[in-house]
Amino acid sequence: MTDQDGVYALRYAYRTASVRGEHFYGHDDRATRPWPIDYFVWAICRGDDVTLFDAGFSRAEAARRGRRPYLGTPAELLGRLGFRAEQVSTVVLSHLHYDHTGTLADFPAATVVLQRAEYDFWRSPLAARGGYRHLLNAADLAELERRERRGLLRLVDGDWTLDPAVTGHLVGGHTAGLQVLRVATTPPVVLAADASHFYDNIDCDHPYAVVHELAGMYAAFDRVRALAGEHGVVVPGHDPAVKQRHPALPGQDGLIHPISYF
Ligand SMILES: [Zn+2]
Repeated sequence: MTDQDGVYALRYAYRTASVRGEHFYGHDDRATRPWPIDYFVWAICRGDDVTLFDAGFSRAEAARRGRRPYLGTPAELLGRLGFRAEQVSTVVLSHLHYDHTGTLADFPAATVVLQRAEYDFWRSPLAARGGYRHLLNAADLAELERRERRGLLRLVDGDWTLDPAVTGHLVGGHTAGLQVLRVATTPPVVLAADASHFYDNIDCDHPYAVVHELAGMYAAFDRVRALAGEHGVVVPGHDPAVKQRHPALPGQDGLIHPISYF
């Protein structure tokens, strides 16, 4: 263990040209208000080992989709923390939307952990339908299939344990097999990823606009709260306010935000 052992939010991209109506379920009179969004991955650092939660999108994907200023690949941001990509032993994926899967190839030796329900859904015929197609990067799915053939894909069902400090939990709602991570730091942290894109989702009980199953999304809010407990910290997946609630490391403004330490 070292002083820097802990959980970090790494902000790799952002988008300012978006409105609230893109992000919240159902129409309301605030739908046209500007609503910027940040893109994060999260690093759990212990000694010389890193567990990465999600893999962001690539610089090329940012250019292809446009309007997404790119701050650095997850591997580049880990470099700012003093880690090399080879030190990432495990990449846990919350789900398979393009903004969570795009730089897996930067971590060729890592074991990838994913819920089986998520993997199965995106390999099913439904994934080609109009409401889903743009959310998956087919090249990223192909990369996962390559990992599976190399024995580097661990498919899990429901709750699972990485090690005594890190547990994964299937919540669904936003996607078929969305999972969150709980990390036993002091205080404990729940990395909610897209179980709650913004603080407003979970705090106001207001679902996100992209819904796989609405009741499941509410159940996910409840599960995240229960996993955090009274004193835990919930970290939403895309909220620009993470930067204010968890100030950056010196010299790393807007990029490297420590959440808690072991
Ligand atoms: Zn996302």
